[in-house]
Amino acid sequence: MLDLTGKNALVTGIANNRSIAWGIAQQLHKAGANLGITYLPDEKGKMEKKVEDLVSPLNPSLFLPCNVQNDEQVSQVFSTIQDKWGKLDILIHCLAFASRDDLTGDFSNTSRDGFQLALDISAYSLLSLAKGAKPLMSEGGSIVTLTYLGGVRVVPNYNVMGIAKAALEMNVKYLAAELGPNNIRVNGISAGPIRTLASSAVGGILDMIHHVEEVAPLRRTVTQTEVGNTAAFLCSDLSSGVTGQILYVDAGYEIMGM
Ligand code: NAD
Repeated sequence: MLDLTGKNALVTGIANNRSIAWGIAQQLHKAGANLGITYLPDEKGKMEKKVEDLVSPLNPSLFLPCNVQNDEQVSQVFSTIQDKWGKLDILIHCLAFASRDDLTGDFSNTSRDGFQLALDISAYSLLSLAKGAKPLMSEGGSIVTLTYLGGVRVVPNYNVMGIAKAALEMNVKYLAAELGPNNIRVNGISAGPIRTLASSAVGGILDMIHHVEEVAPLRRTVTQTEVGNTAAFLCSDLSSGVTGQILYVDAGYEIMGM
């Protein structure tokens, strides 16, 4: 049975009720996990309020600001977990960012700053969070990140985010190799296109979704809940032999040649 009772889970990347991280948090909660939620702080505190209101039915025992570009905030998250929980079992990395300008048009126009920004937030952040989590996962653990097919194949307009996802997927493998001896598993979920705040920045996202609905074996795209269920599986003992993998939750689209 999928049971996460007694497990402490840190979930990053909830912005609103369309966020994939929101789908994951709900399924982890349903399976009995104790949740810690982080949000991306903004100057007016709007995001904090919005996310806090959304997640309150899940009774998170930690609710913390975390901009992954801010090393101090990242280390504060883990020192709070150390103080309040003592150990961490699950880390959900469900965030990414690239400038809207870099998610449309010619890939060769990507600026150096735009490249660095996308790679820093979307790929390097998995390393910095895993580094903080490692000493706290004293009884083993599971780290799950979110990726997309555009990291292994060319998808129109995905551009620099494809490069970031390629880096992210290799991060999964190198981290899995390093952390395996500590019984910490690291896996990625490659989700099919879903309408969210982040995906709306990718030029032509609706066309991508319609294409998947026509071509994917299941003739539809996937939901946040389906991704959440797979994340819960990857965080549970049911997947105890699985690490370093990218699991496609995309209604089968990835297998199609045409
Ligand atoms: P979303 O906009 O709901 O989530 C993106 C999150 O990233 C937001 O919560 C945002 O606050 C956070 N974020 C951005 N910059 C940050 C920073 N500097 N520090 C901390 N957090 C930051 O969109 P989503 O689609 O749910 O995206 C979640 C993950 O799923 C991303 O990695 C995305 O690439 C991936 N993904 C999305 C799709 C899709 O079609 N929506 C498909 C496959 C993979």
